[in-house]
Amino acid sequence: MNRPVLGIPQNTIEILQRYNFSFQKKFGQNFLIDPHVLDKIITAAQISKEDTVLEIGPGIGTMTQYLAETAGKVIAVEIDKNLIPILTNTLGGYENVQIINEDILKIDINELVMEENGGKPVKVAANLPYYITTPIIMGLFESHVPVESITVMVQKEVADRMQTGPGSKDYGALSLAVQYYASPYIVANVPPNCFMPRPKVGSAVIRLDCHKKPPVEVKDEHLLFDIIRASFNQRRKTLVNGLNNSDRLSFPKETIIQAVEKLGRGASVRGESLTLEEFAELSDYLTDNRPEH
Ligand code: SAM
Repeated sequence: MNRPVLGIPQNTIEILQRYNFSFQKKFGQNFLIDPHVLDKIITAAQISKEDTVLEIGPGIGTMTQYLAETAGKVIAVEIDKNLIPILTNTLGGYENVQIINEDILKIDINELVMEENGGKPVKVAANLPYYITTPIIMGLFESHVPVESITVMVQKEVADRMQTGPGSKDYGALSLAVQYYASPYIVANVPPNCFMPRPKVGSAVIRLDCHKKPPVEVKDEHLLFDIIRASFNQRRKTLVNGLNNSDRLSFPKETIIQAVEKLGRGASVRGESLTLEEFAELSDYLTDNRPEH
């Protein structure tokens, strides 16, 4: 068995200098340089030789080396073409790693998983580029990519928003969307000095265990998410006004009032205090009482 050689600052610096690599801010490049954090991510992801792992943004291949040691196969998708020669070198000893030079937001991940893993669920592991955390995660969920779990480094504040419930200031559309598709669990908080260069924000590793079936069943999933977005768009407004003011929704105010009344939470309830189950109830009532055109 090989030992990962990256993950310690000296080796990362040596590689970066050898290839004269300059960090690209626009790609959210903050490379991990702490073996303890890497071990934590790998342990939390619960990867075995049975697993195929999709890594988003391998950088110079630091986490990829750890993944290659534990997984059956690793598919690593990296946007920056300047990193490809580096990856070819640092991952050269691993036959179970495939490097793909693509934008993760543009490739068809379903097709990739079909080709590389016969359509069987993969595990996602990544130190994500923070500028596109939400589109990456929501993209995986909404395109119904077969994924068992997602273990990722994200901005601490985003991890909190994913994990929290009603009543917290962090609760919002992202919390509900993530919790509709998965059970979130914050594994560890990670300070800026574990990265090169240091990010300006704190980070956290979060594990999302994907549901086989969503915890609530609704008649119209699109409407559910339109309602959720409308409810949090104007946080300070009541739920009735938030839904009534939204241009995504076109229900008569009377119908909205009745739908909210049915929840039994009072007419002035705000979206931020509703559970996913209550949003589902609201959505089904509005589906059943949709105005005819
Ligand atoms: N995994 C490496 C590590 O932990 O050291 C690098 C993590 S760094 C935070 C994010 C990585 O994602 C960078 O290598 C960056 O070039 C890559 N990246 C940024 N945008 C991407 C995109 N749209 N598709 C694929 N990779 C992307």
